[in-house]
Amino acid sequence: MSSERQQGESLQTPVQFLKGVGPQRAALLERMGIRLARDLLFFFPRTYEDLSQVARVSDLQEGDVVSVCGDIEETEFRQTGPGRSVFGILIRDGDQFLRAVWFNQDFMQQRFSRGQRIMLSGQAKRQTTTWQMTHPKVKNLDVGENDPGGQVLPVYPLTEGLNQNQIRRIVSAAVDALADEVDEVLPDELRGADILGIADAIRDVHRPPTMERAELARRRFIYQELLVLQLALAMRRKSLQENDAPKLEINAKIDARIRRRFPFELTPDQQQVIGEIRADLALDRPMNRLLQGDVGAGKTVVAEYAMLGAIAVGYQAVIMAPTDVLAQQHMRTLERDLAESRVRLALLTGSLTQSERKATLDKIAGGEVDIVVATHAITHAARKEASPFHRLGLVVIDEQHKFGVKQRAELKQAGLNAHYLVMTATPIPRTISISLFGDLDVSSLRSAPPGRQEVHTYVGEEDKRDQWWDFYRKKLLEGRQGYVIAPLVAQSEQVDAANVEEAFEELASDRLESFRVDLVHGRMSSAEKEAAMSRFRNGETQVLVATSVVEVGVDVANATLMTIEDAGRFGLAQLHQLRGRISRGAHPGYLCVFAELASEETKKRLRAFADTTDGFALAELDFQMRGPGDIFGTKQHGLPPFRIADLQRDDDVLEEARERARQLIDAHTAEGPPSWERLHQMVLARFGSVLELGDVG
Ligand code: ADP
Ligand code: MG
Repeated sequence: MSSERQQGESLQTPVQFLKGVGPQRAALLERMGIRLARDLLFFFPRTYEDLSQVARVSDLQEGDVVSVCGDIEETEFRQTGPGRSVFGILIRDGDQFLRAVWFNQDFMQQRFSRGQRIMLSGQAKRQTTTWQMTHPKVKNLDVGENDPGGQVLPVYPLTEGLNQNQIRRIVSAAVDALADEVDEVLPDELRGADILGIADAIRDVHRPPTMERAELARRRFIYQELLVLQLALAMRRKSLQENDAPKLEINAKIDARIRRRFPFELTPDQQQVIGEIRADLALDRPMNRLLQGDVGAGKTVVAEYAMLGAIAVGYQAVIMAPTDVLAQQHMRTLERDLAESRVRLALLTGSLTQSERKATLDKIAGGEVDIVVATHAITHAARKEASPFHRLGLVVIDEQHKFGVKQRAELKQAGLNAHYLVMTATPIPRTISISLFGDLDVSSLRSAPPGRQEVHTYVGEEDKRDQWWDFYRKKLLEGRQGYVIAPLVAQSEQVDAANVEEAFEELASDRLESFRVDLVHGRMSSAEKEAAMSRFRNGETQVLVATSVVEVGVDVANATLMTIEDAGRFGLAQLHQLRGRISRGAHPGYLCVFAELASEETKKRLRAFADTTDGFALAELDFQMRGPGDIFGTKQHGLPPFRIADLQRDDDVLEEARERARQLIDAHTAEGPPSWERLHQMVLARFGSVLELGDVG
């Protein structure tokens, strides 16, 4: 960093010492994360007011933010109360008029006189007879002057106590003083013709002469932000590929033997993915593959294939589930499918006692276990005891779209160096998978196995409640089972639990009085949960009242009914997951979602949900309607949030950044070319620890 200059300001000057700031405003700025002069330069406008377009009054549309030119026809001042006044002027543009008004700004009277030519910039609103602007910006014109071009004004995020004009002035002064001091981090070869240099970009993002220039400037920062992320991911991908992993060669004989275990033909998608996995496993560098597929698309079967392949060539495999309940379920499936084989299974979950756990870990370490079914808690075990495995070949991570780079990094840290298969039933929009799983290769199962049951989905109106429950009871009497996803009162798990209990009491004593009803929620111990699930599975209970804990992976074929209360709180992808719970068996499913007091927007989402059965389409839709944060919680991934980029809006820039990043990293050593030094530092500063890039290169 350049040393502090003798006088004046540097990028490192605390904002407090800048002109027009001072301690009070500095405290307000700090609330928005602005501490140094430098931060002001990178405090990007949220949007712009485009006053550069000079419009004719005759062409105005309601709400337009524009500039208009005209001659003052009349001025009017009225005192409307003690200390209250209205000042108005009427300007003429051709044969059209526009009125401008100012409240309680008596001094405005002195600024205007009849016949004067001016430009007014602001938002035009239709009044009964004329157009009107309230508190417009004013520019004096020469007689007959027509298109002086108004400004494009930045609109910044605000904090209480600091208004738009104040922050504009503060940022603008900092831009004047310091834009040229900022180092360029993008080397020429990473800057196409359309990417502005840093000083120009800073000036134009804050004080653009036109909207086009504002867009161009924003584009530079968006590109830079996405490029830095993509470089980090490309570096990580490269470093992962440099790791060792055992070669697991599944030859044709083994392949045929494994396939014979399945009582059905694999779907073409499954064949394809299995081919990809076989090719990955045969290399001496680790597979890092994400397998996505809708609920019931047949992912578990693919995972089983891969695990059997690993153990056939003498290695251990582990499958990790996010919850105890799901781990138990995997255990049961495997026990059933492998009943007549010599494959040795072990379950490793949080509900084991100390001594059971120790015994199991001993067996695993001694090579007496082939497949371990575990909850993610195993990473903790692993960290304490180095690798708990004898000869680990494959790690499968199930049903965990929140298992991002950070979580995988933790596993690596735990010494679990092996091939990785990450599975998710939440289809991931492409832009997200590029961003958060950019270091993974992606396979998809798009078509379901034959015979999948459809689920009829209804958006319930309040006056149809009785009708729905009549239907629900009728189906129960026919022998089906059902879920009820209880409403949510508050965002706390504790209240949530109380709430499920209340919903349970209510249903059990009223609408479902004559049926066997049970409940399951997040505050129960996993033994209690498993007991409730098991009663439901074997038909002891007919209805399960639950929070969204049944969301992922739970598999009870006879359950075909579901009521979801407060459906508006869920994303479409999550609703689709819930719906997947009742498409598992021989009978069609029926789902009714209720959303009392929902906004029009929410109702629209729910109708889209009812009309669409394709999980991928829903994920894209969800993404468009709610943005990425709600679906995938970038925070969970441990990645810093974006400051200016928006994955959904900027997908074209994302592709470009990814292309260039991969090219650069593939063509060079991990540090890249010398001109890249500064950018490299930036990548490390931002992502080095979360993506474990430190030991690269
Ligand atoms: P996912 O894990 O993607 O939700 P599963 O692998 O659990 O899906 O498969 C869902 C159901 O479909 C299971 O009962 C499974 O046995 C069955 N299944 C999987 N693949 C096929 C196939 N190719 N043909 C017929 N049934 C299949
Ligand atoms: Mg599954």
